[in-house]
Amino acid sequence: MTTNALFDILKAEGPVPVERFFELSVSAYYAQGTAFGRSGDFTTAPEISQVFGELIGGWCALTWESLGRPDPFLLVELGPGRGTLMADLMRAASQMPGFCQASRLHLVETSPALRQQQADALSAFNPVWHDTLATIPKDFPLLIVANEFLDALPIRQFVRQPDGWHERLVEIGPKGTACFCLSRETSSDAKALLAPSLQEAPIGAIAEACPAALRLIDEIALRLQRQKGSALFIDYGPLESGIGDSLQAVKGHAFAPVLDNPGQVDLTAHVDFAALARRARAQGLCVWGPVMQGVWLQRLGILERTRSLAQGAKPLQNELLLSGTRRLIDPKEMGTLFKLLALTLPGFPVPSGFEVS
Ligand code: SAH
Repeated sequence: MTTNALFDILKAEGPVPVERFFELSVSAYYAQGTAFGRSGDFTTAPEISQVFGELIGGWCALTWESLGRPDPFLLVELGPGRGTLMADLMRAASQMPGFCQASRLHLVETSPALRQQQADALSAFNPVWHDTLATIPKDFPLLIVANEFLDALPIRQFVRQPDGWHERLVEIGPKGTACFCLSRETSSDAKALLAPSLQEAPIGAIAEACPAALRLIDEIALRLQRQKGSALFIDYGPLESGIGDSLQAVKGHAFAPVLDNPGQVDLTAHVDFAALARRARAQGLCVWGPVMQGVWLQRLGILERTRSLAQGAKPLQNELLLSGTRRLIDPKEMGTLFKLLALTLPGFPVPSGFEVS
């Protein structure tokens, strides 16, 4: 969908919550299937280094063992992008006898173009695609992984005014460009959606909530309680819920204006790990982490794995492996901004990499 077609929809709907603008923008953007890699707009961890998906594969194999090696079990990825993480995951996890044979691969992906790329990368594993988690079979244990999926789920924003929280909206102005405005009435949802610590924010403060992510946690909680299993999220955001506008657009590996070209830029928001953890606990799950990506990857042996791969590699390949690992774990790059969060049923043994230090 072109930006103009999207603006036409927004214009017809009148001022819409940021959530609606976000949702339309993200689905139009991923529909193109050109997001990733050097020629695209951004590079995710599995696209930086094969070691990332391999270590997640090792984690899945160990978690599957802790679950009692269920056969069959559902291996579910949310938002698999080009299928790179899952291909690397499967290659590494195949070292655990029985894992691949027992797995049934289910991919949650809305973009037809990306589904095609995933089909090319993962044909050996006969994946089944879904638009949402709702249609995933309900009768076997689940292992769910999601890298940079939550940051693509639409957020709502609220702005503190003297009389309370007003929802932040997007409207198409007379010149045909998008701009922010505020709902006239105070929002009746803000109190329930925002963390108690944010309620008394100063006038003008922006607070965010992601109802879609909270609904996802609710659904995962139900599924794990009925079917058993575990979920692993990797994404970026702060440790504590805070005030601030985290909407961000990226195009061609550089920041871009958030409102100007919906559908043509990658729109994301920080993941509020604390809010997700609160929700998961309230639903009776056990929450592990969030742990910084750099720490977690080192606990899972990223340095040893990189060294052993680099030994047999040609000089250029060797340099790529080392620089990839550096980028994934360096606190100034992805090492601390990105975090891992795991969900299990209570009583489950400590998942690999989530040991309390
Ligand atoms: N995990 C991949 C891709 C991350 S980008 C990687 O790490 O490289 C986000 C992915 O989620 C894309 O595949 C996108 O099409 C998909 N996606 C975004 N919003 C979605 C939604 N609401 N439902 C299903 N898939 C979605």
